Amino acid sequence: MPRPALRSRTVKRKIVRTPGGRHVVHVLPKKHDVPKCAVCGSPLNGFPKMTIKEERKGHRPPSRVFGGYLCSRCLRMGLKEAVRLQFSA
Ligand SMILES: [Zn+2]
Repeated sequence: MPRPALRSRTVKRKIVRTPGGRHVVHVLPKKHDVPKCAVCGSPLNGFPKMTIKEERKGHRPPSRVFGGYLCSRCLRMGLKEAVRLQFSA
């Protein structure tokens, strides 16, 4: 009997054939979803789907302003809007 946490039906399983010819169930690690853009909600580029263990090691977001918060398209639109407002007034 697997331990209680692995009895949940939300964990992904894979049937693996062992060298001895048995078929055993391997539990696949749960991965978090990628971060989303704060404006349009589309998944941010440069972020792989990671497990909790991989996330703990750290992942560097894109090294631009609002990197890891806005997608590049929304940032470009925002910057253009800001410049237009500045020069129109
Ligand atoms: Zn966006």
